[in-house]
Amino acid sequence: MLDPVYAIASYVRLRDMNLRIGSQWLISVNDGEFTMPKSFLGDERAHDLLAGPDGEAHLPIGCFLLPGDDPVLVDAGLGPDWVAPGMLQGGDLLNGLRQRGFAPEDIRTVCLSHLHADHVGWIATKNAGVTFPNAQVYVARADYDHFVTSEQGPLPMPWVKEALVELLRIGRLTLFDGEQLLATGVTALPAPGHTPGHTVYVIHDDGERALLFGDAIYCPQQLSRTDWESMSDVDPVLARRTREVLWRELEGTGTVGTGAHFPGLVAGRVLSGAWQQA
Ligand SMILES: [Zn+2]
Repeated sequence: MLDPVYAIASYVRLRDMNLRIGSQWLISVNDGEFTMPKSFLGDERAHDLLAGPDGEAHLPIGCFLLPGDDPVLVDAGLGPDWVAPGMLQGGDLLNGLRQRGFAPEDIRTVCLSHLHADHVGWIATKNAGVTFPNAQVYVARADYDHFVTSEQGPLPMPWVKEALVELLRIGRLTLFDGEQLLATGVTALPAPGHTPGHTVYVIHDDGERALLFGDAIYCPQQLSRTDWESMSDVDPVLARRTREVLWRELEGTGTVGTGAHFPGLVAGRVLSGAWQQA
């Protein structure tokens, strides 16, 4: 029996994880698995809600593809070269893209929500270097400053850090501040707290909108339980305020939202205080 406060955040899986936003398709691609520690969201009831039959909360490591003339990838997974044993395992992104008919060289834009390891891993690999040779990469300046320039945050993949520095040097990495239109139908919206430059990407076309929450929100229940703080929030107070803002962005607006670790990479809408199927 669910606590009623959680039950308002029920949702239904979308068919094939493909969403239509105006004339634009939005396709989820999973790079691997995040096994969420029991106390990760502070309240162990959060873990229990997300746990499977084995008692573990197996969450995806989500990336999102916008196909079209100039394909856009939002987030770059954990990649194949680094694991956090028992917690993070990745490496499936390129297979997922291939299954959908896309090679790495087809990707023209890569938008990163933030620079934690499970969102930036495929930017470069140990053996093959930069993964997306024709892409312009975008990340908020505040995250680059935090994780790369000042090394205040952990980025446990030196080859990724080196690639980001090199991409910036040759003009293939763009650092941005504030709200920015980065590609046709893709706008960066500052959503700080989880990391200093954490960014939500708004996909918009023909009056319809989807929000890609990154790690600002880990699960649908956290939309209403804004007090559930993630262990990895750099600034928990600001992260909570951001969740409250995102709830208001969704509530009653018809806007669709999904997060990088939402179970099944489902998306949904918030209608009159309840999260419902998109
Ligand atoms: Zn993450």
